[in-house]
Amino acid sequence: MDRVLVTGGAGYIGSHACKALAQAGFLPVAFDNLSTGWAEAVKFGPLVRGDLMDRAAIDAALAEHRPVAVMHFAALSLVGESMKDPALYWRVNTGGALNLIEATVAAGVRNFVFSSTCATYGDQDGVVLTEDTPQRPINAYGGSKRAIEDMLRDFGAAYPLNHVIFRYFNVAGADPEGEVGEQHWPETHLIPLMLEAVAGKRPALTVFGSDYATRDGTCVRDYVHVTDLVEAHVLGLRWLLDGKGDRVFNLGTGIGFTVREVIEASRAVTNREVPVTEGGRRAGDATALISGSDRATEELGWEPRRSTLRQMIGDAWAWTQKPPYAG
Ligand code: UDP
Repeated sequence: MDRVLVTGGAGYIGSHACKALAQAGFLPVAFDNLSTGWAEAVKFGPLVRGDLMDRAAIDAALAEHRPVAVMHFAALSLVGESMKDPALYWRVNTGGALNLIEATVAAGVRNFVFSSTCATYGDQDGVVLTEDTPQRPINAYGGSKRAIEDMLRDFGAAYPLNHVIFRYFNVAGADPEGEVGEQHWPETHLIPLMLEAVAGKRPALTVFGSDYATRDGTCVRDYVHVTDLVEAHVLGLRWLLDGKGDRVFNLGTGIGFTVREVIEASRAVTNREVPVTEGGRRAGDATALISGSDRATEELGWEPRRSTLRQMIGDAWAWTQKPPYAG
């Protein structure tokens, strides 16, 4: 069985990717330092506990498992935190990726799938963002990810390393079978925080800013279901294994929702009120981020199937009813 090294395989998106890879006939080898991930989320292949700052640990994992590809999810991903501590983001995200990419080349692995982000585009007045839109990140998280994209292009020019880069929009939902789900500590994302407030686990959801130039004053985001997102990764892996070469794909639906619209959808799904307080803007937040994802559909044959707000909130709500990972 062909193996894939999945960095961040114990995390939210990485654990769902491991499930999708296993279903597609690959053996996912999760490489994770468990700083934000959960050993219990690693269910579909082995867990190698290691850190991307430790080059020897990466070399050892690649030598032991001889994967056909590396899928790189492991990263710090909080916009607000990246604004307060940019060095952390450049060190861990960009420095960790440099170690990983160098080790991948040294091990003779030729295929690399990278989790990038719509945060690399920055704030562009609500235009639909295509893969050709110039990248102008406005926070250190987006900057650290754009640097990794550049790194992959430079390494690809110098060595036989091909890459597929996915720029994610806002990932939400959980495995509909409930095997894995989203659990961050601390939680900072809109949908899980909202559902915690609905469940009475926190007093209220704070809406970050109501004075944006949008239809109701709150930020617009393009939400994509995690199972659809990881399905694209399997397609991206096959793309590389078929020798189709380097490519960047956005992953979103092309439809944006305001924070208030997400709250409305939650009412419809849960039949409960969302306790809300109004707060100020969060530093680093773009007004609107909406994907032009035609490329993934046209070239990869990607078809998002669960990425309606109702489905994403419903699957996340079902997951929050389960006992959490104990850690
Ligand atoms: N948001 C909010 N309250 C929260 C968390 C998030 O109003 O407690 C807003 C945030 O300003 C953004 C959207 O919800 O407009 C999505 O934020 P999230 O942190 O989920 O993802 P991001 O867009 O930062 O990747």
